[in-house]
Amino acid sequence: MVRHIIPKDLSEALKHLDENTFRVIAGGTDLMIQKRSWAETPPAFDQDMLYILNLPELNHVNHTSDGLIIGAMTPLEDLLDHPDVPKLLKEVMLEMAGPGLRYVATLAGNIGNASPAGDSLVPLYLMDARIVLESLAGQRTLPIEAVITGPRQTVIRPNELIRDIVIPHQQFTHTRFIKVGTRKADAIAKVSFAGAALIEQGVTQDFRIALGAVYQTVIRDRDIEDTVVGKTLSWLKTHKQDLLDAYEPLIQPIDDQRSNKIYRKHVALRMIGDFIDRLE
Ligand SMILES: Cc1cc2nc3c(=O)[nH]c(=O)nc-3n(C[C@H](O)[C@H](O)[C@H](O)COP(=O)(O)OP(=O)(O)OC[C@H]3O[C@@H](n4cnc5c(N)ncnc54)[C@H](O)[C@@H]3O)c2cc1C
Repeated sequence: MVRHIIPKDLSEALKHLDENTFRVIAGGTDLMIQKRSWAETPPAFDQDMLYILNLPELNHVNHTSDGLIIGAMTPLEDLLDHPDVPKLLKEVMLEMAGPGLRYVATLAGNIGNASPAGDSLVPLYLMDARIVLESLAGQRTLPIEAVITGPRQTVIRPNELIRDIVIPHQQFTHTRFIKVGTRKADAIAKVSFAGAALIEQGVTQDFRIALGAVYQTVIRDRDIEDTVVGKTLSWLKTHKQDLLDAYEPLIQPIDDQRSNKIYRKHVALRMIGDFIDRLE
């Protein structure tokens, strides 16, 4: 019989994970769907479940010299209300599910689910987010792209929890997020785009692009971005097609029930081009 454990604090949760194998459940908005049963009975969980949404140590947003530290179990809706959460991340939160779901869904759940279409992953990649993982043995901190290795695949060990998401302080003059979905709310992205740039006196000091749902993980290519840094805005506009040519082979979407690969690639490239066109 499946056991359901609700630890009272983080150390008790880590102890359980150290001693036995559990499936961690946060808001459950992915897991409940993945394990749903259709006969109006509770979800068909096939593993012992460890409920962590209410752990007090994991629900916080702190502004530190290292960056913004978001506790793994902070509900998405709380992030929308917090003055220190970057505007770009808030724009993305507003397009994730609907308000009811956002009161329980978490960033850690979006990361743990590791869907190529996970909306929060796109700005987290763009903003160089770091993920703090904790077990009884201690903590390790990894860049988000080292945590997610493929669709529904992560390097999170069975005895570890995502503890915090760290977003370094950064300054941009331009940011943009676009999610293309079937409808405005409660839609999984067909393609998503986030761009950020810092342009000072006509020179590009920082330039970043992240794309979701067009590869096995979110795409971000620092080599392409580096070719732009230090160049003038007019250089960037003149070389727009070269940049699109550089991104084109990286964009390798699939056909599925939501869209097809030709449409996804076309839209992804149009969004990059549009972002460059809008820079001034
Ligand atoms: C109607 C509906 C609409 C949705 N709309 C969107 C949308 O627009 N955009 C979008 O991206 N997603 C959407 N989702 C999916 C889901 O809401 C998000 O992925 C959400 O962020 C998951 O968070 P959660 O806390 O509910 O995760 P859970 O379902 O609890 O967990 C998801 C995975 O993460 C793991 N996990 C959770 N917390 C931790 C932790 N601290 N440490 C280690 N592993 C952990 C779990 O073991 C599990 O594998 C939608 C879901 C529904 C049902």
